[in-house]
Amino acid sequence: MRLSELGRLEAPGPLYRMAQHQFLRAAKLMDLDPNIGNFLLWPQKSLVVHFPVVMDDGRVEIFEGYRVQHNTARGPAKGGIRYHPETNLDEVSSLAFWMTWKCAVVNLPYGGGKGGVRVDPKKLSEKELEKLSRRFFSEIQMMVGPTKDIPAPDVNTNAKIMAWFMDTYSMNSGNTTLGVVTGKPLDLGGSEGRPEATGRGVSIVASEACKAKGMDISKVTVAIQGFGNVGSYAAKILHEEYGAKIVAVSDVSGGLYSEEGFDVNDLIRYRDENGGVIKGYPKGKPISNEELLTLDVDILVPAALENAITGEIAKDVRAKIIVEGANGPTTEEAEKILIEKDVLIVPDILANAGGVTVSYFEWVQDLQSFFWDIDDIRKKLHKIMTKSFSEVYATKGKYNTDMRTAAYIVAISRVAEAVKKRGYFPM
Ligand code: NAD
Repeated sequence: MRLSELGRLEAPGPLYRMAQHQFLRAAKLMDLDPNIGNFLLWPQKSLVVHFPVVMDDGRVEIFEGYRVQHNTARGPAKGGIRYHPETNLDEVSSLAFWMTWKCAVVNLPYGGGKGGVRVDPKKLSEKELEKLSRRFFSEIQMMVGPTKDIPAPDVNTNAKIMAWFMDTYSMNSGNTTLGVVTGKPLDLGGSEGRPEATGRGVSIVASEACKAKGMDISKVTVAIQGFGNVGSYAAKILHEEYGAKIVAVSDVSGGLYSEEGFDVNDLIRYRDENGGVIKGYPKGKPISNEELLTLDVDILVPAALENAITGEIAKDVRAKIIVEGANGPTTEEAEKILIEKDVLIVPDILANAGGVTVSYFEWVQDLQSFFWDIDDIRKKLHKIMTKSFSEVYATKGKYNTDMRTAAYIVAISRVAEAVKKRGYFPM
């Protein structure tokens, strides 16, 4: 492997700068104390690790991984760990930054963190994946813990990997510590409703956005980019519980369109039996990802990766509402164009906060060793998501601004208050 393939260490990079611009727009509008603003602009702690894994053929491969804590003023850091061949410190720092605001916008007692390993997990055997996961978690063990920093699943990581993380931490520390990660299997301290949580949160805020726009959600059409955890649960819940018609979906293998709307459960079944991708599903017309983003639909849900909606694409977007299931799917240039076109964008830090909210429920249940049922989880999630949407919507009106800036204002006010009350150590 060439050194240039190991990762880019310049931080902040372009994504982090975009995130900082979002923050600065809100900070200016709310007249934030510059001392606090300067502190909140940067990650508090970043760890880059390089670690070896003995591959099945005996070769030793070196992997690069990251854990970043953006801010912990309101509580321990919280945020997922992703496995992706192109992840880098810029991306992970940006995601940690967004986690601070996401936790604050839904008023959870957490700061923001994120982690990642530069790897394509599809190229690893099960044994290699387990070894990589256990070694990575050992490398970042100094930063994580149930009162310090609590990771969770993100792109290409899942409950099985969370179980390995929890076991690794427990073996290294000498006691079983369920509360060190969330998104675990149900029989290992996981929570009911965690897998569906982000998609459910997306569906709840989509419904609130429809009310705000005077639209009837049971009559809307929806296009969803990304058919993984977030995209497929959002499709299922929007369709089954809200009556919306899912007319287009896509994933890394391409897109599909169906004028009469998809039978989402059938599509999920097909994906699960087809190596995790929707390509080849017979009851839909193949379309490109770009076509999906510019379809004439009521709601567009980008639920794949960052920078999906560029300025070029935004010019042709016809959706009235965008609900950001993914983190950072809309570029700054695109957002300007979309706001001018009066598209209501429910920003990532609010729209996909359902996942971290149920992760918070899981952590609370682990700490008290007392577990709630699914109805309880869904009711509590619904209450938090609708309340947060209405706080952000009211702030949008009060400051005469867009939804993202309003969400930042709500979040920054809470974090700034915590920083102010804690003071600067040592004085
Ligand atoms: P996932 O790995 O389960 O799914 C990702 C999906 O995106 C897959 O269907 C993949 O094929 C598709 N995809 C990848 N590249 C694509 C491309 N170029 N075009 C179209 N589709 C593409 O991941 P996930 O957990 O669903 O996460 C998706 C997004 O949501 C990420 O931005 C993640 O950070 C964010 N998010 C996830 C959660 C969660 O609880 N899982 C919570 C908050 C935010």
